[in-house]
Amino acid sequence: LARPVYAGQLPQGLQTISNIIAVSSCKGGVGKSTVAVNLAYTLAGMGARVGIFDADVYGPSLPTMVSPENRLLEMNLEKKTIIPTEYLGVKLVSFGFAGQGRAIMRGPMVSGVIDQLLTTTEWGELDYLVIDMPPGTGDIQLTLCQVVPLTAAVIVTTPQKLAFIDVAKGVRMFSKLKVPCIAVVENMCHFDADGKRYYPFGRGSDTNIHSSLFTYLQVVQQFGIPHLFDLPIRPALSASGDSGMPEVAADPQGEVAKTFQNLGICV
Ligand code: ADP
Repeated sequence: LARPVYAGQLPQGLQTISNIIAVSSCKGGVGKSTVAVNLAYTLAGMGARVGIFDADVYGPSLPTMVSPENRLLEMNLEKKTIIPTEYLGVKLVSFGFAGQGRAIMRGPMVSGVIDQLLTTTEWGELDYLVIDMPPGTGDIQLTLCQVVPLTAAVIVTTPQKLAFIDVAKGVRMFSKLKVPCIAVVENMCHFDADGKRYYPFGRGSDTNIHSSLFTYLQVVQQFGIPHLFDLPIRPALSASGDSGMPEVAADPQGEVAKTFQNLGICV
C-alpha cells in the first residue's frame, strides 16, 4: 500500500511502521474488534510483522480476544516509552493492558491517552499496525486520524439499511482526511442451519431482495471502495474471541482466514 502524503510531522514512535490500517465502525457491537484482530493475525500468518493497537479505551476488547502471557505493558523508564506485550508474534497495546480497567474520561483526555499510548510505544519495525478504532465518527476518532498517518481504512458494518448510512459517514470521515477506504466488511450477514442459509438482517448486498442495496451501491460507487466482504455468523468466531485465540491463528487455512487474505492487503 502507498502511504498518503502526511502533512504533519510523523510521531517518532510510528516512524518504523510501514502501513497503518484503521478498522472502524459507526456503532459498537458490529464485530469491529473481531475483524481487527483476525485481520492482524491473518497478515502475521502471511509472514508480515504486525502490531495491534486497541484504541477503544472505554471498552477494550483486545485483552479478551488474545491471551498473552504478560498481560501488563512494561515501561522503559529511561526512555519514557511503552513496550508492547506480544502474543503469537503480534505486538499488542491496549488500555486494557495498562492495569486500569475501563476508563471514565472525557473526550479530550481520551484523545490524549490514545495519542500517548500509540506514539510512545516502541513498536519496532512493523509491516502493519492495525488500529481497532473506538466506534463512531466523532471528535475522538477524528483526532486519532489526525495524529496517525493512516495508510488505509477498513469499515465494518452489519447489513441493515441504517448500518449502510453509517458506512457512508465513516467513508466521509476518512475521505475528508484523504485516507482511502479499501474494504467494507459486512459482518454477521448470514448463518447456515439445517442445510439452509438464513439472512437475519436482510440481504444487504443483494440487488433484488433488500432495499438497502441502493444505499450500499451508492456508497460503493460514490466512494469507489474496491472490496466488499461477507463474514457470516460463526459460533467458532465468537467462541475464539472469548477464548483468547483468534480463529485465524487456530485455523490459518480456514474460511475466515481466506476472507481476510482477500481483503486487498498485500504482504
Ligand atoms: P465491536 O468491536 O464492533 O464492538 P466485537 O468484535 O467485540 O464488536 O463483537 C461483538 C460480539 O459479537 C463478540 O462477542 C464477538 O465474538 C461476536 N461476533 C462478532 N462477529 C461475529 C461473527 N461473524 N460470528 C459470530 N460472532 C461474532
